[in-house]
Amino acid sequence: MTATSVEPVEILAFGPHPDDVELGCGGTLAALAARGSSFGIVDLTRGEMGTRGTPELRAREAAEAARILGARFRTNLDLGDGDLRTDRAAQSLVVDAVRRARPRLVLAPLVADRHPDHVRASRLVSDASWYAGLAKLETGLPPHRPDQVVFYAAYVFASPTFLVDVSASFATKIAALRAYRSQFHDENSREPETYVSSKGFFDGIEARSRALGRIANVEHAEGFVANVPPTLADPVAAFLGYEGGKKE
Ligand SMILES: [Zn+2]
Repeated sequence: MTATSVEPVEILAFGPHPDDVELGCGGTLAALAARGSSFGIVDLTRGEMGTRGTPELRAREAAEAARILGARFRTNLDLGDGDLRTDRAAQSLVVDAVRRARPRLVLAPLVADRHPDHVRASRLVSDASWYAGLAKLETGLPPHRPDQVVFYAAYVFASPTFLVDVSASFATKIAALRAYRSQFHDENSREPETYVSSKGFFDGIEARSRALGRIANVEHAEGFVANVPPTLADPVAAFLGYEGGKKE
C-alpha cells in the first residue's frame, strides 16, 4: 500500500511498528468503525528488526489486521525500525500523511512507552500533527491541523485521561492481533520465543483490557492519555453504570 492510498478519514492512528496500533487502540478503532466512523493506519516502520518473521510477512499480516479492524487504508512510511528517523524528511512524510488524511483526531503511542522507537514516534507524530497546520510550511498539500493528538499505551500501564468501552469490539481486536502469526504466541512456531511472543504477553493483553474495564464497570476498556481534558457532551451518560447502576 502506498502513500497515495491515504484518503480523508476522521481518525488517523500512527504505529511505530505494525501491530502497535492493534495493541494500543485496536478495540477503539474497531468500535468506531462499527459505529460508522472512518479511520486509517500509518505504520512508521516495517518492523524489520523484529526477532521473528520478515518485513514482507509482517506487511501481509498488517494488511489482514487492518481489514479485520475495518480500516479505510493502511500505509507504511518505512522510517527505519530500531533507529526511527525523526529528521526533517521524516517529519515531512508524517506532515503529508496528516494533510492527506485530514483527520479530526490523531492517535499516537505514549511518549513514555517501552521501546525507544515508540518514544521517538510519539514526539514525531505530535510535532508533525501541529506543523501540518502551518500554512507557510509548503509541501504541495493544503494545511490541516487535527483537533487533538491523543496517546495510547501499547506496553506500559499509564493512568488514563479517558477510557473507551471496547467490550463489544474486544474479540475483533484479538482477531486482528492473531493476524500477526509471526509475532505473537503460536505454540507451533519454531522461531525463538520473545517477550512479545510468549503466552504470558498475550494473556496480559486481556488482563490489561479487563483491568481498565473494571474502572468503568464494563468488561473491556482501552485507556488514552490526552494533554487536555476531553469535553463530555453528557457527564451523566459518561459515568453511567460505574458503580453498578443499571445501564439503559
Ligand atoms: Zn512497537
